[in-house]
Amino acid sequence: MPKYILLFGAPGAGKGTQADILSQTFGLPQVASGDLFRLHLKNQTELGQLARQYMDKGELVPDDVTIGMIRARLQQPDAAHGALLDGFPRTVPQAEALETLLAEFGGRVDAVLHLRVSEATLLTRLAGRAVTSGRADDTPEVHAKRIQVFLAQTAPLISYYQQRNLLIDIDGEASVEAVTTSLLAALEPLLKA
Ligand code: AMP
Repeated sequence: MPKYILLFGAPGAGKGTQADILSQTFGLPQVASGDLFRLHLKNQTELGQLARQYMDKGELVPDDVTIGMIRARLQQPDAAHGALLDGFPRTVPQAEALETLLAEFGGRVDAVLHLRVSEATLLTRLAGRAVTSGRADDTPEVHAKRIQVFLAQTAPLISYYQQRNLLIDIDGEASVEAVTTSLLAALEPLLKA
């Protein structure tokens, strides 16, 4: 049965960094919706042009577009044994669509790792990343907007996954190494199963 692990947290919580490490450890591809959108932007696809209007403002790309893109990605052969999802789902309709999609692949969400980080730390980290990222959405105004969008549209997924007994809380304030250690410890029972 394929395994699907979600990395969940606000912008700047460290999802990408940890997904990259876990992906190498488990041999599962990292599927990051933000990276997929940026690839479309770079390749100047129609989807990229559409996504840019939302990304530049720190808003979410509409669900139907995002879900379609993730569906296509998860159908790729390298995701046959599962994936580490980073930045998807970000809304309740996306989470519902993911359930349906994974059922089609004979799988389900196995765990949701919630990297919990204070708002002050998020803003500090995002400001630090802005120096080197070259991302158009790395400005203080867009950072504040993205955190606001997270709280309004994405945070409801915390209770969504709590109710399904899938949420694992991780202290995301610690060092990269310490967070990785916590994530690996949390995933151990699942990966033995
Ligand atoms: P990220 O790289 O995850 O920080 O995402 C960058 C931007 O891509 C976000 O601010 C959104 O505009 C868009 N985005 C990424 N993932 C999603 C998603 N699951 N749903 C809607 N928009 C998304």
